[in-house]
Amino acid sequence: MQDIDYRFCPLCGGSLAERLLKPREPKRLVCTDCGFIFYIDPKLAVLALIPLQGGIVLVRRSIEPGYGLWVVPGGFVDLGETVEEAVVREAQEETGLTVRVERLLKVYSYRHSRTVLLAYVTRRLDGELVAGDEELEARVFAPRDIPWSLIAFSSSRDSLKDFFSLSP
Ligand SMILES: [Zn+2]
Repeated sequence: MQDIDYRFCPLCGGSLAERLLKPREPKRLVCTDCGFIFYIDPKLAVLALIPLQGGIVLVRRSIEPGYGLWVVPGGFVDLGETVEEAVVREAQEETGLTVRVERLLKVYSYRHSRTVLLAYVTRRLDGELVAGDEELEARVFAPRDIPWSLIAFSSSRDSLKDFFSLSP
């Protein structure tokens, strides 16, 4: 797991301490003053696989983590939107393209990561490919040209492999 270093109770400001509440579950952060249990839950994110011109759209990150590396467009699902809406929003923000969700490719989760990713195959409806605020560039890669050694995240690598049905 990535380090999450919460120290204070969000309800009363008391100190949080790690406690084993149930034998078969992980330790929980518990407020030593009011007893509030601070559950650290998975975060939900989406990936938008956008086929275009016989290839796939990738974006190069201009922020950490993964600065300068390529990823499948995507991001965290906001509270109050559906996952499909998040796919359309993130695709628009990161590539300038208006897409429609076609189908769920696969769900990815990793023991070392807090993020659960839903990868969707989309179809471009409109728009020109342009990099968003958090990208250095956006471009289409033919399957044989995908820069595997410069892909930032396991989820991007795994979803590209699954999309193109390559063996890992
Ligand atoms: Zn408290």
